[in-house]
Amino acid sequence: QKTIFEITHNGEEKIICEGGKGGRGNWHFKSSTNQTPRYSQPGIPNQENQITLELKVLADVGLVGFPNAGKSTLLSCVSAAKPKIADYEFTTLTPNLGIVKYRDSQSFIMADIPGIIEGANKGKGLGHRFLRHIERNTCLLFLIPINSNDIMHDYKVLLNELKKYNPDLLNKDRLLVITKSDLLNVEEQKKISLNISLDHVFISAITKQGLDKLKDTIWQFLIKM
Ligand code: GDP
Ligand code: MG
Repeated sequence: QKTIFEITHNGEEKIICEGGKGGRGNWHFKSSTNQTPRYSQPGIPNQENQITLELKVLADVGLVGFPNAGKSTLLSCVSAAKPKIADYEFTTLTPNLGIVKYRDSQSFIMADIPGIIEGANKGKGLGHRFLRHIERNTCLLFLIPINSNDIMHDYKVLLNELKKYNPDLLNKDRLLVITKSDLLNVEEQKKISLNISLDHVFISAITKQGLDKLKDTIWQFLIKM
């Protein structure tokens, strides 16, 4: 009998199914002059509708990157989450969430989202099914391994995938995170840094390089929201 509402993005109520109205029996129409009325009111049937509800992941930080970038590994390093990790593509089939503890008493939620590949916005690979999960994240980390042939090119491809899917995603804070930095020494890392014109952090799951700096940067994004 109840009306079902959908609360839209901008907080408006939209009716999905109008509720019905109960009828009124003949007793309602009884009066001193008509003690057994033959009249009753049938009521109004409710609307029926089949709806599919979708659960979106709500996280503070979303990890974006090609398969094998080290997303699941990062999540397992900074949280207690135990995502599946392997050196083949698409090991992460559903988004994983982890709570990242920050400076004793604070925490934020990080979501590891399955790999985006070029063309993901057109449904290629698994990326498209998961792109919608990052719509609700406050900031996005772009993870690119240090042994990529061209980090800036990869970054632009990822950015373009997001833009084609939903240009609003580009309004979020984002940070370039260069993963697997243990594969190169600090001198070589510095050389790479010179060719990157935007803020970036080198991290390694093996040496733990950059993980604290990464958390500090994320925290700065979150507290200004
Ligand atoms: P995802 O597909 O982005 O989730 O990538 P995974 O986290 O599953 O990692 C892909 C592969 O990269 C695995 O074999 C990991 O062991 C490896 N890997 C991840 N992080 C690092 C790192 O910091 N250093 C090195 N050397 N390998 C890493
Ligand atoms: Mg993964």
